[in-house]
Amino acid sequence: MKNKDAAVVVFSGGQDSTTCLLYAIKKYKKVYAISFDYNQRHKLELECAKNICEELNVEHEILDMKLLAQLAPNSLTRADIEVDHDAPETGTPNSFVDGRNMIFLTFVAVYAKQRGVTDIITGVSQSDFSGYPDCRDIFIKSLNTTINLAMDYEFDIITPLMWIDKEETWEMADKLGGFELVRDKTLTCYNGIIGDGCGDCPSCKLRRKGLDAYLKRRRQ
Ligand code: ZN
Repeated sequence: MKNKDAAVVVFSGGQDSTTCLLYAIKKYKKVYAISFDYNQRHKLELECAKNICEELNVEHEILDMKLLAQLAPNSLTRADIEVDHDAPETGTPNSFVDGRNMIFLTFVAVYAKQRGVTDIITGVSQSDFSGYPDCRDIFIKSLNTTINLAMDYEFDIITPLMWIDKEETWEMADKLGGFELVRDKTLTCYNGIIGDGCGDCPSCKLRRKGLDAYLKRRRQ
């Protein structure tokens, strides 16, 4: 039996996935959040994810994906590799983890099917394209077809942020009543500082630019 009243959210504890979690809570009766331990540089990320789920009363599970760091060491899993500040002209930035979204979404699909759930929510976005090929809509559609065929099941990968930028993501969190939560409790900073972050890394700059633009509009 398929449960259309429930959804599984791919949840990192960052701004985007927390906004997706708020979206899911509004839309579904039952929400599961899944985080991944892939030996990311900042364990605090998982701590943040856990705390947000507790606060929002969402069932949360952390899956062990350390194998990924073993296969594809990169700047998000290795402290001795510095994060690229700009997307390179060719190829992917060194913060890109080969296969990450494909592997995570595939595991989430297995988890969802076990619970009779078809709807999978992920916060990937093509708008602020940062050179990550697995954040593109075409990849998500392709994987959706693949997992449906692989498991003979009608999954629906839902991407509420695909066509919106950071400013609109702030707006969405605000409309869902989670502006403060996202601002104060999420972790997106590559230097592992919760909330407004270090202010200097590419992720903080993108987040800040969107926030400033949204706040300016909000005050008017
Ligand atoms: Zn930062």
